Amino acid sequence: MPSVSFEHIVKKFGEVKVLSGLNLAIDHSDFLVLLGPSGCGKTTLLNLLAGLADVSSGRIMIGERDVTELDPKDRGLAMVFQSYALYPTKTVEGNLRFGLSALKLPREEADRRIKWAASLLQLEALMNRKPAQLSGGQRQRVAIGRALVKHADVLLFDEPLSNLDAKLRTEMRLEIKKLHEELKPTVVYVTHDQIEAMTMATKIAVMNGGAIQQFGTPDEVYEQPANLFVAGFIGSPAMNLVEARVVQDAGRLSAIAADGRRFDLSGYDCCTQHPSHDQPIIIGMRPEHFVIGASSSSAACSLELPVRIVERTGSDAILSLSFGSSLIAVRIEPDRAARLKAGELVTVTYPRTKLNLFDAQSGRRL
Ligand code: ATP
Repeated sequence: MPSVSFEHIVKKFGEVKVLSGLNLAIDHSDFLVLLGPSGCGKTTLLNLLAGLADVSSGRIMIGERDVTELDPKDRGLAMVFQSYALYPTKTVEGNLRFGLSALKLPREEADRRIKWAASLLQLEALMNRKPAQLSGGQRQRVAIGRALVKHADVLLFDEPLSNLDAKLRTEMRLEIKKLHEELKPTVVYVTHDQIEAMTMATKIAVMNGGAIQQFGTPDEVYEQPANLFVAGFIGSPAMNLVEARVVQDAGRLSAIAADGRRFDLSGYDCCTQHPSHDQPIIIGMRPEHFVIGASSSSAACSLELPVRIVERTGSDAILSLSFGSSLIAVRIEPDRAARLKAGELVTVTYPRTKLNLFDAQSGRRL
């Protein structure tokens, strides 16, 4: 029995269908991240689960309960909003206590939970302050505390870190992950930030155009993207995508790119259909899997390409190499990048085991 399931969910705003028959099941204690570009329907799906909007058709289950028609307060959920939604006139303690008001708990139990959340989130010294007297990160912790005191089985987060600066975001990311590991609630977390998704999630649902493109662990969506959308969306710099045609000769599988370069595909482990002779495909190569230097026995290809741009970020360096009219991004060690100049020829090798192949027409992974 999953903790939360969406069954054939359709959501229309007027005539516009934003979600069209979406299915998704989330296990107990999973940290599910709904990840996708702006407008893909993440918040709509979260709001349907929270009861802040009504489904046009379909069913939402929490455990064994059909909650589709239930009021938000009867669904057993707690939500942390992007805007924090704290009461400006109440103190931190007042805001935490307000999270409990609908539960009508005995005073001692309410006090116990508030003390517990304050200690967990290091809010003890701030209990008498009002939100205006808190930093962004402290406000965020109060908003999380207000959700935690409810002891809800399912916690919902709607882009909770997007109003924080980069350093605080990293800190809060760790805190939320730690809280999840300690308390093990089921979490549904909306973001368009792939770093948040990759670092916090136990499962990711990648969404686009109101549909789930792939549902899997962070490793699965990164290492085996189900289609070209996921391949292009996850990873920074994005996966390199090269158009090619499959060639089968004498039992050997390879692909020829538009400029005549050959890629050895032998041993490629297809997850769906096997590529057929002359099939147009897209070859996907992650920037970090290239090695500098000439071919090895397990190489799919060795490419000698001119350097266009060298970008160094301190801990990292990205080479942009000219490949026909486009560029191929290659991640290398910064020390190595320091010795390279634009225009210089570099040989890079890509291993066969790290190839990703997609059907050029459907975009699906082969
Ligand atoms: P973002 O990351 O920008 O918040 P999102 O993935 O959460 O985007 P949603 O807010 O769920 O996207 O919106 C999905 C689509 O539904 C968008 O095209 C949006 O314009 C539309 N939409 C959302 N709410 C309404 C509404 N109340 N009325 C009409 N259209 C809406």
